[in-house]
Amino acid sequence: MENKKELGNWLNNFGLDHPLVIAGPCSAETEEQVLRIAHELKDTDATVLRAGIWKPRTRPGNFEGVGALGLKWLQKAKEETGMLIATEVANANHVELALKHDVDVLWIGARTTVSPFIVQEIADALKGTGKTVLVKNPVNPDLALWLGAVERLYTADIKNLGVIHRGFSTYEKTRYRNNPEWQLPIDLQNRFPDLPLILDPSHIAGRRDIIFDLCQTALDLNYDGLMIETHYDPDNAWSDAAQQITPSTLIKFMDDLKIRKETGEATEFKNKINTLRTQIDVIDHQLIDMLGKRMKIADDIGLLKKSHNVAVLQTKRWNEILGKMILQGEEKNLSEEFILRVFKAVHQESINHQDKIINS
Ligand code: PEP
Ligand code: MN
Repeated sequence: MENKKELGNWLNNFGLDHPLVIAGPCSAETEEQVLRIAHELKDTDATVLRAGIWKPRTRPGNFEGVGALGLKWLQKAKEETGMLIATEVANANHVELALKHDVDVLWIGARTTVSPFIVQEIADALKGTGKTVLVKNPVNPDLALWLGAVERLYTADIKNLGVIHRGFSTYEKTRYRNNPEWQLPIDLQNRFPDLPLILDPSHIAGRRDIIFDLCQTALDLNYDGLMIETHYDPDNAWSDAAQQITPSTLIKFMDDLKIRKETGEATEFKNKINTLRTQIDVIDHQLIDMLGKRMKIADDIGLLKKSHNVAVLQTKRWNEILGKMILQGEEKNLSEEFILRVFKAVHQESINHQDKIINS
């Protein structure tokens, strides 16, 4: 697949003067809950009401969704508020039921995108329906797998497409529930500038206090929309309680977020430079993170050296590291002088750390 202008037409047709906002609970719980949230979102920037009906859970035993019954509640919310409705589909049967209930936007969940068989089944079931389909990134950071799912839908004549960035799972615990790995969606955006890119900060964060900053980063990176889990009583939500925000918090976020919507040559330059600067910020964050991780390992080595009475400075090993880094740097167009300076500084910090450990 290559970039095609038509990919984003559905979004342009909405005629919004701000990014698309999809909001609503992680799960539809009761009819009252769905309707109340829909009414609280009705006159906000949110255009689409989301709610999970079938919930894919990593482990069994958690709330697995109300099933097809919830589609009636969504349909009623649509009738009462005029909002468009969206839900997750994970097989052909879900698609059939969602179509029957006039669901406007169908999304493919992160655990489904990983399976080409299921994505194909969904694509076949959607063929010729003219629906809008959003593909969440697969749980693992694999751009080809993500694009492959988009391609299967495109080949099945589904042209109203978009992607949702919801982060990637990692074995080690980080501050995020799912690591954003911004570089992946940035690469995707560079290759498919017309494919709408939507951020799901809720599943990246896993907690509500960092959702705002994630949204702002995405807007600075020129994302086209946000999908935010919203519930009037987040703490008592039946799923993903820690990450949901109330409709009034959502309204406040929309007021406080800086959205770049002006156009013109000077603005275009400003937008471009802001996007590039945000990309640099993302990488700088990663650099600090990696340096911190490296230093933690140096600390462990310090402890080991202490218990075995070994000297901190191991000149032979250090020279080997430097030699390798200079060669690797050359491949990336980084001068020997620069690599030497950076790694001498890193090495000195390690030695300081280990000296402290050994002398404590
Ligand atoms: C969801 O949107 O509630 C959901 C289950 O998301 P994901 O597929 O990103 O885990
Ligand atoms: Mn959820």
